[in-house]
Amino acid sequence: MQDIRCGNCHKKLGMGEYTRLSIKCPRCGTLNDMRAASPAPERPGAPSESINAEHSNCLLDGRQAPPR
Ligand SMILES: [Zn+2]
Repeated sequence: MQDIRCGNCHKKLGMGEYTRLSIKCPRCGTLNDMRAASPAPERPGAPSESINAEHSNCLLDGRQAPPR
């Protein structure tokens, strides 16, 4: 299975396997058209987007620590 996330706000919408899926995000209202074309990331080299939106606030707090 794989995470199904909103392409706009990265909210986790669910988990599962799909070949094609259309799901509307309850948070931001974006209609996500999902296609499982390939298991590879869509944008190789892009920063990891596996951060849970629910935890982003914690990470932001951590970044407010004094630099080095
Ligand atoms: Zn969303």
